[in-house]
Amino acid sequence: MKYNHKIFSIFSILLIPILLLACSPKPAASSGKTIVTVSILPQKYFVERIGGDLVDVNVMVGPGEEPHTFEPQPSQMEALSNSQIYFTIGVEFEDAWLSRFKDANADLEMVDTSAGIEKIAMTAEDHHDEDAETDHEHGELDPHIWLSPANGKIIAQTIASALSANDPLNSNTYQENLNAFLMDIDSLDQEIQTSLASISNRQFITFHPAWGYFARDYDLEQITIEVGGNEPSAAELANLVSYANENNIHFVLAEPEFSTKAAETIASEINGQVILVSPLAEDWLNNMRSVAQSLAEALK
Ligand code: ZN
Repeated sequence: MKYNHKIFSIFSILLIPILLLACSPKPAASSGKTIVTVSILPQKYFVERIGGDLVDVNVMVGPGEEPHTFEPQPSQMEALSNSQIYFTIGVEFEDAWLSRFKDANADLEMVDTSAGIEKIAMTAEDHHDEDAETDHEHGELDPHIWLSPANGKIIAQTIASALSANDPLNSNTYQENLNAFLMDIDSLDQEIQTSLASISNRQFITFHPAWGYFARDYDLEQITIEVGGNEPSAAELANLVSYANENNIHFVLAEPEFSTKAAETIASEINGQVILVSPLAEDWLNNMRSVAQSLAEALK
């Protein structure tokens, strides 16, 4: 009996930690931080503002890459397998990959940061191809939700709730960081309103239609060069050039992530300049400020 009992005890001692491991929720990183994966760099800024030292953030679409055609590297799938939360935002590559991310990590909690944001339709190319058939789907919803301070506040709140729910012991920290971030966003918004208050022309041309929410928030009008993700035809370019000349538009926004060829062509035909702005810069707050400053300067 004694012998059997001893065997049982040893067995128990071995078994208990195994059972505990198997039953515990997804273990935190050895550092104790919450590991999070996001799709694009501005989301990294958001999560770090709210999570501070309590989070480690992996980003799928790195600097200079673009989220419409992105495919993850094996090393990124590996990093994903250690993540506790994936914050989605609705960029194009997520359509193809989110289910595979979930398959690769069954415990991964998916949090949709576009929740609570009312999406607007993509800008139609009314100004330069009224008669042309294009492959741009009118009524398609604009995925660039993060390029708006008002939307940014909603995204920040969603992230803070998810981090708190995942790590309730630190919820006060997340809440304090959220409050400080929301105050910064409010003053950013005030600053942008002020800088754009006295401009004379409210129309701007952009290669990629990323600034629809920004235009909505600040009473601007975005005119896009790109048609359904493609470079415009010669006739479309010519129509856009005459529209710009008639309406006194002297600059074109383009992005470092895309070809600037069409933007440069138009800029030279309207005696204007190309202004490079990125929708994907990591330092979201300063990037929004500098985009607004560039627009205010160019539109005054
Ligand atoms: Zn885009």
